[in-house]
Amino acid sequence: MLDRVIDSDTHRLLIDGRRVAALSGRTFETLNPATGQVLARVAEAGVEDIDVAVRSARAAFEGPWGQMKASERGALLLRLAELIRRDEAELARLESLDSGKPVSAIARQDLPAVLDTLTYYAGMADKINGQVIPARPDALTYTVREPLGVVGAIIPWNFPLMIGMWKIAPALACGCTVVLKPAELTPLTALKIGDLALEAGFPAGVLNVVPGFGKVAGQALVDHPDVDKVTFTGSPVVGRQILQGAAGNLKRVTLELGGKSANIIFPDGDVDTAVKAAGSGIFFNTGQVCSAGSRILVHESIHDAVVERLAARAQSIRVGDPLETSTAMGPLVSEAQMNRVLNYIEIGRNEGASVITGGARHGSAGYFVEPTVFAGVHHDMRISQEEIFGPVAVVIPFKDDEDALRIANGTVYSLAAGVWTGDIGRAHRFTKRLKAGTVWVNTYGPTDIRLPWGGARDSGFGREHGEAAIDNFTEPKVIWINTGR
Ligand code: NAD
Repeated sequence: MLDRVIDSDTHRLLIDGRRVAALSGRTFETLNPATGQVLARVAEAGVEDIDVAVRSARAAFEGPWGQMKASERGALLLRLAELIRRDEAELARLESLDSGKPVSAIARQDLPAVLDTLTYYAGMADKINGQVIPARPDALTYTVREPLGVVGAIIPWNFPLMIGMWKIAPALACGCTVVLKPAELTPLTALKIGDLALEAGFPAGVLNVVPGFGKVAGQALVDHPDVDKVTFTGSPVVGRQILQGAAGNLKRVTLELGGKSANIIFPDGDVDTAVKAAGSGIFFNTGQVCSAGSRILVHESIHDAVVERLAARAQSIRVGDPLETSTAMGPLVSEAQMNRVLNYIEIGRNEGASVITGGARHGSAGYFVEPTVFAGVHHDMRISQEEIFGPVAVVIPFKDDEDALRIANGTVYSLAAGVWTGDIGRAHRFTKRLKAGTVWVNTYGPTDIRLPWGGARDSGFGREHGEAAIDNFTEPKVIWINTGR
């Protein structure tokens, strides 16, 4: 089965409708994080490959793609959704092998989200309208919304299929063309999506997929003078580099960056459900989620009971082979990420916080870390301020509403937050005062492609999803027709 899915011929770059080797001939290895073994060798895009891909995307934009009816673009997106549905099992297996995500979670969460994203934007392709704005009696004045042009999409490894589609689908619906640079740790499903797009009938050059390293291929895309827009999801450090690179030709930029989200539990709500959701909020996807509820703020009156129950939940999580359908938590994506998480656990211990459960590597093969719960955490500690991006929950007690808000808002991030309360007034006060792009009340973590998604401060800027994404990939043009009086 592995041989059928992992076929070395399939790991070339996808440029201008063809699978090609890198011009340098270079390749890199992608590993299976559950075993540490080499999964595949993948062509490594260099600066010159990015240039060819951008030219191809430009030619497609100026040519067949630009000439196509909007409804035909929508139909192609629907056709792509059909092909993804046909190859769902293969995609889930490939994503699981490359990223370590449990195959069951991919089938339940990632693939449905990918399909929902495609169908949502397919329906929007022919509904991107301008406005007639009656500005003057002597003129007919109106706007049309034009696609921006060539989009560079740079994505991380934590949800390769889903985050990739969050960018590809709206960009293509708007009439842009795309050069997609997947993360070097998880290049495989992006290439497969590129193949399916060709099979669906997208013209050559509309979607190019160029695996490679961030500092070379990613940077080349950001620096390229003929790229009109960069849409990026990743770390704040790289987000800042992208802003600098994009200054060259003043590219538009959307940045979805990190988080250190607070999940606040009051005693006046459904505490049982809150604890369950707090567990999934941090342990889902091995904690490698930008909106993970990594800081669990608990009212001091229920702190000890919540810590105890959360630890019991952490201990009950089935950690193991991501290809087993019963597995709930897989490995971290790489050895480096595992070491980073273990290092943070060490930092937490040295800062004086207590490990209630977990706190060590799980097994000796692959990059697994035990689901870990820290208590005795002070808001100023590094484990409370910095994004760990692993299965590490920190529980912080608070005294009252003001204390909870001070702690919740007291990091450099503003991506998401949750509050659990039975008091409707408190719920509204918190939704108003929490600094976050999304605030969940009596739930934690759901997203929907119809709702704008994004953050502020070190969580980035701009919004994806919903109609906001249409604004990301189009620009209004004003037409002024002198009619005379
Ligand atoms: P990363 O920033 O290291 O890498 C992300 C992508 O950027 C990769 O494709 C990488 O190759 C590329 N890259 C690296 N350096 C580059 C450069 N100089 N120029 C251009 N591209 C470059 O992030 P990561 O480690 O892959 O992902 C984890 C981070 O992503 C976390 O901080 C997480 O919170 C964030 N994230 C945010 C969201 C969100 O929606 N806000 C979603 C998922 C992940």
